Amino acid sequence: MNQSEQFHQRIVALGREIFELADAARPHVWQSAWWLEQTTRAMDHDPRLRSRAFQFVDCLPALRDRAEIARHLGEYLDVPGVGIPKIARAVLRPGRLRRLREEFVGRAALMGATQMAGRFITGFDVPSVIRTIERLRAQGMAFTLDVLGESTTSDAQAERYARVYHDLIDRLTPLAARWPTIPMIDRDSHGPMPRVNFSIKLTGLDPHFDAIDPERAIRRVGDRLRPLLQHARQAGAFVNIDMESSKHHDLTLELLKRVLMEDEFRDWPDVGIVLQAYLKEGERDLDDMLEWAAQRGTRFEIRLVKGAYWDAETAAAVRNYKEPPVWTSKWQSDACYERMARRMLERCDLIRPAFASHNVRSLAVACATAEELGIAPRDYEVQQLFGMGDPLKTAMVRLGRCVRVYCPYGDLMPGMGYLIRRLLENTSNEGFLKQSFGDRGSHDRLLADPAVAKPPSAALPSRRYRNTDPEEPMLRFINASNTNFAVAANRQKMAGAIQYVRGDLGRTYPLVINGQSVSTEERFESHNPSRPSEVVGKVVSASTADVDRAAASARKAFARWRSTSARERADILRKAADRLEMRRFELAATMILEVGKPWREADADVTEAIDHCRYYAEQIERIESRPRLRNIPGEDNMLTYSPKGVCAVISPWAFPLAILTGMTSAALAAGDTVVMKPARQASVVAAKLVEVFEHAGLPSGVLNFVPGSGETIGRHLIEHGEVNIVAFTGSQEVGAIVIRAGAVVRPGQSFIKKMIVEMGGKNAILVDDDADLDGAVQAVIESAFAYAGQKCSSCSRLIVLDGVYDAMCTRLREATESVAIGPADEPATLVGPVIDEDARSRVRRYVELGRREGRVLVEAKLPTDCAEGYFVAPTVFVDVAPGARIAQEEVFGPLLAVIRAADFDQALEIANGTRYALTGGLFSRSPANIDRARREFAVGNLYINRRITGSQVDAQPFGGFKLSGTGVKAGSPDYLLHFMDARCITENTLRSGFVPDDVRNEDHTEVS
Ligand SMILES: Cc1cc2nc3c(=O)[nH]c(=O)nc-3n(C[C@H](O)[C@H](O)[C@H](O)COP(=O)(O)OP(=O)(O)OC[C@H]3O[C@@H](n4cnc5c(N)ncnc54)[C@H](O)[C@@H]3O)c2cc1C
Repeated sequence: MNQSEQFHQRIVALGREIFELADAARPHVWQSAWWLEQTTRAMDHDPRLRSRAFQFVDCLPALRDRAEIARHLGEYLDVPGVGIPKIARAVLRPGRLRRLREEFVGRAALMGATQMAGRFITGFDVPSVIRTIERLRAQGMAFTLDVLGESTTSDAQAERYARVYHDLIDRLTPLAARWPTIPMIDRDSHGPMPRVNFSIKLTGLDPHFDAIDPERAIRRVGDRLRPLLQHARQAGAFVNIDMESSKHHDLTLELLKRVLMEDEFRDWPDVGIVLQAYLKEGERDLDDMLEWAAQRGTRFEIRLVKGAYWDAETAAAVRNYKEPPVWTSKWQSDACYERMARRMLERCDLIRPAFASHNVRSLAVACATAEELGIAPRDYEVQQLFGMGDPLKTAMVRLGRCVRVYCPYGDLMPGMGYLIRRLLENTSNEGFLKQSFGDRGSHDRLLADPAVAKPPSAALPSRRYRNTDPEEPMLRFINASNTNFAVAANRQKMAGAIQYVRGDLGRTYPLVINGQSVSTEERFESHNPSRPSEVVGKVVSASTADVDRAAASARKAFARWRSTSARERADILRKAADRLEMRRFELAATMILEVGKPWREADADVTEAIDHCRYYAEQIERIESRPRLRNIPGEDNMLTYSPKGVCAVISPWAFPLAILTGMTSAALAAGDTVVMKPARQASVVAAKLVEVFEHAGLPSGVLNFVPGSGETIGRHLIEHGEVNIVAFTGSQEVGAIVIRAGAVVRPGQSFIKKMIVEMGGKNAILVDDDADLDGAVQAVIESAFAYAGQKCSSCSRLIVLDGVYDAMCTRLREATESVAIGPADEPATLVGPVIDEDARSRVRRYVELGRREGRVLVEAKLPTDCAEGYFVAPTVFVDVAPGARIAQEEVFGPLLAVIRAADFDQALEIANGTRYALTGGLFSRSPANIDRARREFAVGNLYINRRITGSQVDAQPFGGFKLSGTGVKAGSPDYLLHFMDARCITENTLRSGFVPDDVRNEDHTEVS
């Protein structure tokens, strides 16, 4: 037998021994763990029941009383397709047996879920934690304590999170000194090990732990981490930093490398980090950390895990049409784990290895490799999660290994994410635990080498569509992706682009008429609202005579453009999309400087522009290749569309590229020609878009560019006799003027102008009393304050149900105080300046009004680097009456009015009680209330349990009604039809009673 066969045999022997020991320690019917196993098994047979049950568990901590619990349980489980017994259905149904329902069902559900939480969460207070960890030690197991509460939304929350660790250090370390020594877990060959051990998540230490600005994140998190490490070191405790999702991965390692190299920590061995084997880059990470360990010169611990965020990582990648950073077959993660385990054990001189897994094969490999390398069992650890695979822990202790149990501590509310991850793992078909202990799979199969057996994995979730029409070609539309700023190269590109655009400041941008640049002395300057002294560009200002020439040239070009094929027009749009993609950083940088859009917002603006071009290219090909036929014997009927003529595109500065490109590309796709008049404040971005279209091969005269004042140039264009369509997006006041002006039929005008008018909103988010408040706060902050609340989709009203009003306000105040405000070119900025001095004065007037109409809950502090620009501090007013002006008028600034609602009926009434109907949001975990909002919340775009901004072309066609717009949806399959005239052509094909054969039998549905 060769060495490798011997090694394999040893793994199998160890694995079998672990299984036998674990089987002997399996729970019995009188133990709660047995019941959990049975429940888990029942859920396995019904995936719908599983997901509804998880959703119910997720909302449970937010429910106030048994009646609420019983109501929610009924809403989640008493639905068609969820397999529950008839008797349970009868009890859950509202109206009948109400008392029984509330008493019995409410109580039982609460008990069940609390027990389930108690299985995975060590304790809700310090005494219960102490009891648990002392019990674990009595069983020969060490612990690492994790305070629940990842992903904070405010500095105050982060401070509280850090304080809990400080307190725990103070409470536990004196106690630990009195615990009897257990040699296997309290000493290794290098000496005594700390008995008190903590695991910390960095996202809990800062609401801005965001890789977009690593230096800032490292500074801020480092400032909270250092005192904690100092305190732990002084008290003799151990600190491990957990690894979270991939967007935090590089930042976490970078921060740790820097802090642990500082003089006060460099010689401290009692720290640990985590590496994830499910990452394709896992081995490279390990090599990198080993190299760093050699430089540091003091041992530390590396905990090897597979990784807890596989579902989230793959879903995010699929959503963005990207390759996931994680392996996509389970065996690949397993095999990578084994390779990394060996490498870690080989470098025991540099690190203390810890193997966190419930997979018997993975653990057997680690143990067998350690044996082969002659490493003593106390010189590495086996780590497992509290409440998961308990027989396995007992087995590993009996096998003489150093076992450490990961013990989460804290309230159920912040721990919900953790609990759901554990439930997912316990019931996952791919998971080893379920296969080995749940399904009792064959031990030999489970112990097989993953790299050889390569068992198949479930397919990745695909980007699924609710396919209402299998013939619909748009279902294949692939949206462009936003830039991932966790990638250093992307951050460098954006910073480089800002520098490049800065190097080009002050350039003059001419008009473009009939393909010619036209320059006159009449110019206006476009300023950077973050630093108004910076002139972004000088723009030639069109006169009314220029508009006349532009309209005439568009009219002339129309004759040719309308007769180009849909394919030719679509090709030009696709080329434009490619050029936008090529210039995406430069265009985003231009928006950052010209209109004060923060990095992510500017980047998303480019993405949307790209989508518009590609989407309308596909749409026009579909429309032209598939005219609607309704042929009957002897008569052919065809519904077809043709372009209208010249389109005036008048766009806002709020989405300087996305909306401008959307309206322009739709007109061009339809076969119309365009006279473009962008908002003055965003004319440089618009000039660059014109360049993009020129380079894409648009013939002269098809797109004309006449920047200038809205009142003179805009008005002249709208009223112009050559203009057939006006595509306008802007404020409600101006929109109303546009509609009036366009409605007049002037002498010589032989058509009615088509007005496609998108206006503002007074958008509300409604927070139900069972909502996830942390999720709601985060979404409200992003929706209300990102880009200083200047999107038409921004949230400016928050309607909160009485039951959670105070709690929501507290969180909102803390989160608003922590919002990142600054110049838009700072990568971490969420709230930049408002667009100009006029806007600032107007918003400030509303601040004064808000003070009179409500109470200021919080007015954030403006940092010093906001002194020059047009900044307004994000401000929240509470106790605002639904009819107050601050709750009714469109402001376009970072102001939020909070309104209290007695119940859900009233909340909906308030939400619908404005003249607008653009976007709206609901945070609720009641399926019944979600259904009601779907039916009754009257807005063009309703978002449930997410932010209300950031619509995607095709997925969320955008546009409102009432005084928000004319009910037209940009980015929808029917948008282009508004730029065209519908024509029906009927031909009598009967010739003296003879029906031509070809017509009678032809299948017209696929005419192309
Ligand atoms: C003590 C302890 C501490 C932990 N700390 C962390 C931490 O800091 N950060 C962290 O991310 N996780 C952490 N975990 C969680 C850990 O990553 C999961 O518990 C672990 O992934 C489950 O792996 P397993 O070896 O126990 O089980 P297995 O059933 O063998 O593996 C399941 C894992 O395989 C991977 N996987 C599943 N399906 C696929 C697929 N189709 N393709 C590729 N891979 C797949 C996933 O990572 C999944 O979790 C910790 C776990 C323990 C026990």
